[in-house]
Amino acid sequence: MKALAVFPAQREARLIDHPSPHIGSSTEAKMRVLDVGVCGTDREIVNFQYGTPPEGFDYLVIGHESLSEVVETGPKVSRVKPGDLVVMTVRRPCPHPSCIACREARQDFCYTGDYSERGIKSRHGYMTEFVVEEEAYLNVVPRSLRDIGVLVEPLTIAEKSLEQLERIQQRLPWASPVEPGIKPGPGRRAVVLGAGPVGLLGAMALRVSGYDVAVYSRSPAHAEHNDIVAAIGARYIAAETNSIDQVARTAGPIDVVYEATGASGFAFEVIQHLGPNAVFIFTGVPGRKAPIPVDTDGIMRDMVLNNQAIVGSVNAPPHCFEAAINHLGVFVSRWPDAVRGLITKRFPIEQALEPLSSGAGGVKNVIAISS
Ligand code: BGC
Repeated sequence: MKALAVFPAQREARLIDHPSPHIGSSTEAKMRVLDVGVCGTDREIVNFQYGTPPEGFDYLVIGHESLSEVVETGPKVSRVKPGDLVVMTVRRPCPHPSCIACREARQDFCYTGDYSERGIKSRHGYMTEFVVEEEAYLNVVPRSLRDIGVLVEPLTIAEKSLEQLERIQQRLPWASPVEPGIKPGPGRRAVVLGAGPVGLLGAMALRVSGYDVAVYSRSPAHAEHNDIVAAIGARYIAAETNSIDQVARTAGPIDVVYEATGASGFAFEVIQHLGPNAVFIFTGVPGRKAPIPVDTDGIMRDMVLNNQAIVGSVNAPPHCFEAAINHLGVFVSRWPDAVRGLITKRFPIEQALEPLSSGAGGVKNVIAISS
């Protein structure tokens, strides 16, 4: 069967013929892959900056954002049946008995770093025709989300971040109650960095959770991004023409930053303008470039004197997939055009390298493997 693979040693990415998988244990299911989303992580992998083939292979089948249809189930599978739509989680546990996180099925908090990730680290991904997976890693998606279900995985990044945020902000009892129709008060002013799919989905999740949201982006202000931001009741602020200092002065102190760019220099510029008691959440995974100067004294001083927290968050446990599936349903009922507008274009697998090349425009490009 067809698959899009990266050969890091040969520095090549191409369509290959990959062995078709078979159900090997009673708790596995076989899926026909429908859609696979393309993200910055995939682009880094096809540019040989990230990604590791599974042991014994010189290539890695990429793809970790997916929507599939169950075609066959092992005899002990009970939560899914043929015909169900599912999204698979990405991360799998490390093998070490001492890793309590992985042993508790919370490999998103793995202690050893020996976890694997489908389509990213030591496990083939989903950019192929069929996959087999353990039932535990499948999340059922309602048919009504067929056209946008591929957005579930990138939305889980926001779901896990929001969960962390809510836990940290329990220290501010006044920040939690959000009255419908009343402008959010202190603790609820969020800035999203970046207007890509992770940023826009994060902005939607923050809006639904009662935050006042500004999307601050350095990308050229494409009309489609602007329209989506406006439709969800957030503000688009172009970084080219507005300094973050101006943003903080006009919109009030920044309580929360949801970083979705992977650009560390930009992120550390923004960190210097956080408000009191603010939380800054990193979700991007930057490639390693040359060091840049940062005002460490200023940042440390502000962090202490203003009780600021910086937290990194990587996704995501099954309950965050469930939250993402529920939220996607809410988003599509509130903002149907904005949510559908997140998917720019669908490409056949034969043309998968086109949106994977760094110049590809749009918001979220999807490889439509089958219909
Ligand atoms: C994926 C996550 C993964 C992370 C780090 C992201 O693009 O969405 O599932 O954990 O990359 O590899």
